[in-house]
Amino acid sequence: MDRSANMRAIRSKDTRPELAVRSLAHKLGYRFRLHRKDLPGKPDLVFPSRRKVIFVHGCFWHTHRCKISHIPRSNAGYWGPKLERNRLRDKKNIDELKAAGWKSLVIWECETKSEDDLQNCLEKFLGEPHTEPVRQMTRNARLIGSEAGTVYTGSMAGRRGKCRA
Ligand SMILES: [Zn+2]
Repeated sequence: MDRSANMRAIRSKDTRPELAVRSLAHKLGYRFRLHRKDLPGKPDLVFPSRRKVIFVHGCFWHTHRCKISHIPRSNAGYWGPKLERNRLRDKKNIDELKAAGWKSLVIWECETKSEDDLQNCLEKFLGEPHTEPVRQMTRNARLIGSEAGTVYTGSMAGRRGKCRA
């Protein structure tokens, strides 16, 4: 497969990064809808009761400035304008959602590789899910296990992520 065919393949729906976000959000107890067509940009995950949406963006397609998003130099003339259109459309969608009272979070493909970071991102943006007991146990188990010896003043204290919610 040549590079551009490969890029087209990556664009298909239900991509791996999107599935990673969905399955973690589900595991954490959040309730959401998928690709609601009545909202600008058909957000990947929609949390109606919180009036929040999440877009899971491929780094290449949505021009994340990170190392996996670089444009192949030989095809810059071809990809440049396409990607710029994507970028402007993303911005417009988020602006329209905001005007309608929806908060948006973009989770980048490169941010879906660590489940801990992703969990931190989701909790920071969405707040606590409603199903507490199971998750509380999981969190305590983790604190006892890998983070024993560190003092935490609150459940989220000390947990940092790249998330900019
Ligand atoms: Zn990225």
